[in-house]
Amino acid sequence: MARYTDSVCKLCRRERQKLFLKGQKCFTEKCPLEIRNYAPGQHGNGRRAKVSEYGVQLREKQKIKRQYGLLETQFRNYFEKANKQKGITGENLVKLLESRLDNVVYRLGFASSRKQARQLIRHRHIVVNEHLVDIPSYILSAGDMIKIKEKSKKLDAIHSSLKRVKDSTYTWLSIDKASLSGTFMQVPERADVPLNANEQLVVELYSK
Ligand code: SF4
Repeated sequence: MARYTDSVCKLCRRERQKLFLKGQKCFTEKCPLEIRNYAPGQHGNGRRAKVSEYGVQLREKQKIKRQYGLLETQFRNYFEKANKQKGITGENLVKLLESRLDNVVYRLGFASSRKQARQLIRHRHIVVNEHLVDIPSYILSAGDMIKIKEKSKKLDAIHSSLKRVKDSTYTWLSIDKASLSGTFMQVPERADVPLNANEQLVVELYSK
């Protein structure tokens, strides 16, 4: 499967916004955005040209796509799915993305980034409702229980990452740090999701 292999910090600098793609480093002063908050490249620190309406919509789409670690086709497929559902398409899109297993493993604190969460899942460390699931894009339903496989409970990466998350950070998730498990209690409302982007602009972009 195709994947992005260049520096992910460049993506944050391009958006001039922290996208939290690098795990623990994102929460320290070593984050490049703390030092150089301008776009990468020779002219990154120059005067910003006026951005067109299309440009603004495109940047919002890139921001959301990159935060959830998706490629264009995958993201577009989520949009199509959201568009077919009842309700507000932009909100449906965010709800779908939030229901992905890799995102929930990250939010539960078992991984310090969504990328690391995907690795944990692919390496078969994650159990959903007592079944091993190795598909990062697996969509969870309300009530699904996620836990770390018994044999993987000693992994240092999981324990150091768990320190980042408080038990009550997300209202739609319950976390039991002692047993390394959590429950996806419900699909979150858009207003509850800490996503600093305007999904409505994505809808406008794809509706052209
Ligand atoms: Fe983005 Fe994290 Fe890199 Fe900072 S450290 S630029 S937040 S990926």
